[in-house]
Amino acid sequence: MLGFFKSICYIIAMVNHMRHTRAHTANRRSHHALKTPNLSVCSNCQAPHLRHRVCPNCGNYKGVNKIDMTPKVTKKTVKK
Ligand SMILES: [Zn+2]
Repeated sequence: MLGFFKSICYIIAMVNHMRHTRAHTANRRSHHALKTPNLSVCSNCQAPHLRHRVCPNCGNYKGVNKIDMTPKVTKKTVKK
């Protein structure tokens, strides 16, 4: 009975060996690094922002004010 149990454990151990090598894992993970986003400079306030996005500092997009940022400023000032 003990021999049978040992053989079962041996088979399970063999199955556990069916894995990728460290090199295979490293090769796969070589593409996982994050890239820095390409930032543009706002034409209104010169703050960096993501391309094709509204400026988070002033709310302008292509020189047009899309988001009115004054309510945020007033909230902050009320908290202070
Ligand atoms: Zn801006």
